[in-house]
Amino acid sequence: MQISESKRLFAHAKTFIPGGVNSPVRAFRAVGGEPIFIKKADGAYLFDEDGNSYIELINSWGPMILGHNHPMIREAVIQAMENGTSFGAPTAREVEMAELIVKMVPSVEKVRMVNSGTEATMSAIRVARGFTGRDKFIKMEGHYHGHGDSFLISAGSGAITMGNPDSPGVTVGTAKDTLLAPYNDLEAIERLVEANKGEIAALILEPVPGNMGLTLPLPGYLEGLREICTREGIVLIFDEVMTGFRLAKGGAQELFGVTPDMTTLGKIIGGGMPVGAYGGKKEIMQFVSPAGPVYQAGTLSGNPIAMAAGLAMLRYLDTHPEVYAQLALIGRKIAEGITKINHDQNLNYTVNFVGSMYSLFFTQQPVIDFESAKTSDTVLFGRYFQEMLKRGVYLAPSQFESLFLSTALTDELIGRILLAHEESIRVIHQ
Ligand SMILES: *Cc1c(COP(=O)(O)O)cnc(C)c1O
Repeated sequence: MQISESKRLFAHAKTFIPGGVNSPVRAFRAVGGEPIFIKKADGAYLFDEDGNSYIELINSWGPMILGHNHPMIREAVIQAMENGTSFGAPTAREVEMAELIVKMVPSVEKVRMVNSGTEATMSAIRVARGFTGRDKFIKMEGHYHGHGDSFLISAGSGAITMGNPDSPGVTVGTAKDTLLAPYNDLEAIERLVEANKGEIAALILEPVPGNMGLTLPLPGYLEGLREICTREGIVLIFDEVMTGFRLAKGGAQELFGVTPDMTTLGKIIGGGMPVGAYGGKKEIMQFVSPAGPVYQAGTLSGNPIAMAAGLAMLRYLDTHPEVYAQLALIGRKIAEGITKINHDQNLNYTVNFVGSMYSLFFTQQPVIDFESAKTSDTVLFGRYFQEMLKRGVYLAPSQFESLFLSTALTDELIGRILLAHEESIRVIHQ
């Protein structure tokens, strides 16, 4: 594998871009080595600037659920381009988009389009605060909701109930309204609610977290959260930026049969364009400006090209429900294949999977929350990542990410992925 052009570009990039990348995890810091610069993508493949190709298991961190460069999405974008790239005024396509989202996602009765998942979660919290007249909200340790100030809080220095900023630039004043809880622990939520009676506007979580590696809700957990939030008048927000349109047409809320009050969306919703959305119950969404008093706006929100790509994607998923069975089968073949290979080599690493998402954790403990995820051997993961890359399989460059599969993965490609896994896992244990 020759990567001289990527090396050259990265060195050049660092002169002009902080760290050489426009989003930190792309820099490969967690796995060692330097990032690979991608020239193009097609189907299940990424092609780099040096002419190498990779079977890829991230799919732009989720959006490319049908594989890259899908002709149907490409055509929709090219057609939309003929009529101009932005108007800053309402379009028919936005209405169609909203109607389709309402049809597909159980909790959404009204929806507002934004430009990223980050914008969606920031706005949803603001609306929940406006709606309830309360300031605080609960977030789970290890869950990611984009880079909004109030979400960049993790469980620092023994702070169980009081958030500490995770990044310079986030003030203690902001952090103090973010209450932290471990995932999959209803008792912890009850304690927080009791200690902050009548002050909590919202509880936001990834119903199926993918940002500390893939973790699944324990039986009854999401139902329990629903019950507590209903009882306490807390707005329950499912951040389905990852899981929306992926685990089912209607996301994790459809799969698990638990309906939140609000939902945030991103990734797949834009078909590869920068799109996000937040929506929920009518009475809550009526608080959004100009219908209500909570301000939220966007110059490029509902952009006609982005809407064309997103609409093509969602229409396809809406009219091809068999896609989800196909994706689940692909996910099962890979996750079970990896597990079997590990067992054959007497390795009992934890593999979590659901539908077309999975994570291989380099730990023998079950991973159900941030604490257990952190027992993973990240150095070993880094070596595994590099060995897979050498064998032409491109993984997320961090132990604490989910992988995202696409319908472009044929049985032949799955066989190649498993073979690469078998060799890589052997090499790193020699
Ligand atoms: C990716 C992600 C976000 C942030 O979305 P951006 O489009 O990167 O701003 C928020 N929440 C979850 C669950 C995500 O996976």
